[in-house]
Amino acid sequence: MGERLAGKVAIVTGAGSIGPGWGNGKATAVLFAREGAKVFAVDINLAAAEETQAIIRQEGGECTAHQADVSQAAEVKAMVEHCLETYGRIDILHNNVGILELGGCVEASEESWDRVNAVNLKSMFLTCKYVLPHMERQGGGAIVNISSIASIRWLGIPYVSYSATKGAINQLTQSIAMEYASKNIRANTILPGFMNTPMVVKALTDVYADGDVEQMIEIRNRLCPMGRMGDAWDVAYAALFLASDEAKYITGIQLVVDGGLTCKCV
Ligand code: NAP
Repeated sequence: MGERLAGKVAIVTGAGSIGPGWGNGKATAVLFAREGAKVFAVDINLAAAEETQAIIRQEGGECTAHQADVSQAAEVKAMVEHCLETYGRIDILHNNVGILELGGCVEASEESWDRVNAVNLKSMFLTCKYVLPHMERQGGGAIVNISSIASIRWLGIPYVSYSATKGAINQLTQSIAMEYASKNIRANTILPGFMNTPMVVKALTDVYADGDVEQMIEIRNRLCPMGRMGDAWDVAYAALFLASDEAKYITGIQLVVDGGLTCKCV
């Protein structure tokens, strides 16, 4: 066990995984616990959060699974209250929840636009709304919001609601960082690139390779400068740094974790 987050309590949203393997939220929750944090693992799918809880407990870590839809204010409020009842404080808020729905402005339905906005963007507004007052009372805290390189680049496939909400997350985070800098509360975003996670398998296999997962992986690997996609642990280690006191003078940044993909022009 490491000690980079010793004594800290971390809420991780989307701490389960949409499918078998390691999603970003699941890997981050497990890594935070390995580094000494008490993890409050939140997911709309309780079984998925409990799977993460079981992994953490098996490794000797501390974790409580909690079910909540983070796009719903009442559920977010209850989530924060339950975390405080369980662990007494909140030092880290890791906002990982995000969904991807395909379509440009013409193809995407209004319902899809509203759903993606609620799950990706409103959720982060809500979790910050209810967590910030506690961090302020405690005298500090760290927020890590998961965005995407889709917030700053066209990635070849139209998913307009995803790109737009991720762009807004960058600015939401910067606003919070500035408003709360003098209160010792830091807020940063991570912009993952092409990561090989269960979410991508589910959302993008049909678009890239007509249902062929191996082919989708091969195509996306080829697009990356390093010849391979990243994985959930690449995002988790970036989050660990930003959440820890090692990053105590870092706030308002957009940390790109993409193996150089956004440097590429052709
Ligand atoms: P994931 O496996 O799809 O999601 C993690 C968990 O979040 C799932 O168990 C999911 O439950 C849950 N969830 C979905 N909606 C929720 C809600 N409203 N309230 C609470 N929980 C909810 O994804 P991940 O791998 O952990 O990472 C996702 C994050 O990384 C997103 O923000 C995504 O945009 C970002 N990202 C990923 C990539 C990539 O290439 N993988 C690239 C850039 C950014 P269900 O299974 O029931 O939906």
